[in-house]
Amino acid sequence: MRPAEALHSRSMTPDQVGDEPRHILDLRTTPVDRLRALLAQTRRIETDAAGELAGVLAGRFVANLFFEPSTRTRLSFTAAARRLGAEVLDLMGEGSSVSKGETLADTVRTVEAIGAEVIVVRHSASGSAAVAARAAAAAVVINAGDGAHEHPTQGLLDTYVIAEALGRLDGFDLTGLRLGVVGDVAHSRVARSDLVVWRALGAETVAIGPAGLAPASLEALGCAVEADLDEALPTLDAVQMLRVQRERGADTGALREYTDRYRLDEARLGTMRSTAVVLHPGPMNRGVEIESTVADSPRCLAERQVRAGVPVRMAAMLDAAAVNRL
Ligand code: ASP
Repeated sequence: MRPAEALHSRSMTPDQVGDEPRHILDLRTTPVDRLRALLAQTRRIETDAAGELAGVLAGRFVANLFFEPSTRTRLSFTAAARRLGAEVLDLMGEGSSVSKGETLADTVRTVEAIGAEVIVVRHSASGSAAVAARAAAAAVVINAGDGAHEHPTQGLLDTYVIAEALGRLDGFDLTGLRLGVVGDVAHSRVARSDLVVWRALGAETVAIGPAGLAPASLEALGCAVEADLDEALPTLDAVQMLRVQRERGADTGALREYTDRYRLDEARLGTMRSTAVVLHPGPMNRGVEIESTVADSPRCLAERQVRAGVPVRMAAMLDAAAVNRL
């Protein structure tokens, strides 16, 4: 069964798993039909008042392999798995045999041998989710952030929240919108996933930052690249403010100059369209990329992003496991 057919099949039971691997490794190569189906499934899950999905993965194991710190992503994958009735095998890099030199591939084979059917991987190396997918015999891998490459479920939840805020939930067509990511785009897997999914759904996209953090090479993602935040802000319908990722080598030069030019403060927010919204994937460095009062204002949807993380990850797990009960 082809992935799109599996997703639209209403008759599948949890025991029926499609014969193609249904990994979710990136959004760049995910067909637009599957992107829309994942978002539509998220919407159905959010309105699943009857709780039809409770227990749909009962008796199955989902493994969380997190080799990098995480708060929102790990907890919401756990919450998503539990809401579907699955058991969660939780492995964190520290304290596992990875700290004794075991490879990611061997770790994947180990959790699969224990019974994991869905394996969620976060790792500091770009491409590590694909390595995990190659190592898996039958389990499906969901990328929860691989280095500076992609963070597909974050890209989906950001899209969902934007579509909700801007009235695009029917069909998830973002045509006519101009959406921006600001700051340390070069090191951001969130930005990469956002930019490709927004573009695929029809939006005009722009990466904004100093040349060192928003290089012209990002144009390969189909976006414009701009250095002047003040010029860009009035043209945008939504803006995602990114954390400066010092752990990946980001150099902001003089931090003071960076915050002067790129921090979203109240004065800058005031230049945006009245309907425009602000996103932040977290963790937030208040006062650096975003002023605290902006972060706490109703225009900032950061908390809504976190809430959307659970249904998006439920949709991703159902899709990966080729289960559709709604
Ligand atoms: N939490 C996001 C990530 O894991 C963003 C960040 O760390 O700044 O990529």
